[in-house]
Formats: sequence, structure tokens, C-alpha cells
Amino acid sequence: KEILRAQNLRYRYPDGREALRGVDLSVAEGERLVLIGPNGAGKSTLLLALAGLLEVEGEVLYRGEPLRGLRDPRRLELGILFQDPDDQLFCLTVYEDVAFGPRQMGLPEEEVRRRVTEALARVGLSGFEERSPHHLSFGERRRAALATVLSMGPRVLLLDEPTSNLDPRARKELMTLLGQIPTTQVIATHDLELAYWVAHRVGLVFRGRVVHLGSPEEVLFDE
Ligand code: ADP
Ligand code: ADP
Repeated sequence: KEILRAQNLRYRYPDGREALRGVDLSVAEGERLVLIGPNGAGKSTLLLALAGLLEVEGEVLYRGEPLRGLRDPRRLELGILFQDPDDQLFCLTVYEDVAFGPRQMGLPEEEVRRRVTEALARVGLSGFEERSPHHLSFGERRRAALATVLSMGPRVLLLDEPTSNLDPRARKELMTLLGQIPTTQVIATHDLELAYWVAHRVGLVFRGRVVHLGSPEEVLFDE
């Protein structure tokens, strides 16, 4: 069953650079779709478009409805993890950061607390509630940032380079973690091992288009 669809997406940055040149893509509910491709291919831009954060030409449909007409709280069902965790951590404690989204949603404090506890457990940061995000390791900050997204209860997770800048062990842990999150995921990366291990399908992005889409074996080994 389809949850997200991109139809003929086109986007040009204000400086004139054409980042998306007609992207068509369908994402099935529950699948992990990994987008690979060289630097500058348009992967990050595509994730922003799928999150509804860019004014693109074409249409993004979430559960059959145009994203541009979608309001909170349904819009919040799409959660995005930026490449730099520091873009998502700005409070004095991990607890405050992970509670921020659920509080914005107007949830009662008891439910906020439940969600923070669950999200931190999910990313392996139970007990980090009162720590300062700025004193965590990079790998911990990446997972804390992921917890700030998970606490909103997204139905689609969009992740930009989730394994970048991690040491081998943290990278492996993050791969395993993504494999364990049952939520639909669209992951942009140039980590081919990540694509191989966690993807149900792999899309190859090249010069602003999805040029090849198939099983990890088909796309990565070009069978
Ligand atoms: P990828 O994530 O695959 O590396 P991006 O989506 O970041 O690709 O970039 C696609 C194209 O858009 C590239 O040519 C890049 O230089 C350009 N681009 C990305 N971000 C900006 C920006 N903020 N302003 C102008 N051009 C940008
Ligand atoms: P589903 O979410 O549909 O049950 P799985 O997660 O079982 O799918 O498997 C999807 C792909 O990810 C398979 O190729 C599997 O080998 C791989 N995979 C699953 N879990 C892990 C993990 N913890 N580490 C690495 N690869 C994994």
C-alpha cells in the first residue's frame, strides 16, 4: 500500500541551480527505501520536498492527499532527520529537546513524558534525560536528534545521511537501529553498506532524477 508519492517534482534553488528535474517516486507503507547517488545528485533536496519543506513544482501526495494542503497534526506524520544533529538540538537538556515536539503538538505532560521515555529507549539513550546535548558524542547527538523526531510519532521517517561522521561501531549500531524501527523510512546516503543492509528497495538518484529503482541486489550490483 502506497503512503507517499512524488509526481514530476522539479526544484530550482534561488541561485538558479536545478536540483530536481522531474522526480517520480512511490513509497510503500512500512518499507525502507534508500536513495543513493553522488554528491549533488539531489538527494537532500528530494527529502526536503518529501517533508513538505520546499515549494516544489509537481506534487507530493501523502496517503493520496496533496502535501501542500496538509495541516498539522497530519503534516507532523512526516518526520525528518537532518544531516547535522545540531540543527535539531537546541535545548539545555536531552529531555527538553525530545519533549519539544510533543509539547508543540499540545499533548498533556504525562503523554509527553511517556513519549520521551519511549523515544530515548528506542535510540539507546535511556538515562540521558538530564544531560546537555552539547556534551554528548557526535553519535549520541545523532541518536538524540532521531529521538526528537521519533517522539512526534511519525508515520514516515525521512533521514539525511544518518550514518555520516560516525565511527565504525556507532555506524553499525545506527544501521541496526534503523532496521528495528518499523516506521516507513526514506533514507538518503552514500553509505552503500547501509543501503545493502537496511533497504527493502534502493533508488539511484542522478542529476535531479531517480534513474533506477529496484531491490538492493538489482541496483547495487547492477544485475
Ligand atoms: P545531494 O544530497 O545528493 O548531495 P543536494 O540535494 O544537496 O544533493 O544538491 C542538489 C543540487 O542543488 C546540487 O547541485 C547542489 O549544489 C545544489 N544545492 C543544494 N543546496 C543548495 C542551496 N541551499 N543553494 C543552492 N544550491 C543548492
Ligand atoms: P522487514 O522490516 O520487512 O522485516 P528486515 O528488517 O527483516 O525486513 O530485512 C530487510 C533487510 O535488512 C534484509 O536484507 C535484512 O538482511 C536486512 N537487515 C535486517 N535487520 C538488519 C540488521 N540489524 N543489520 C543489518 N541488516 C539487517
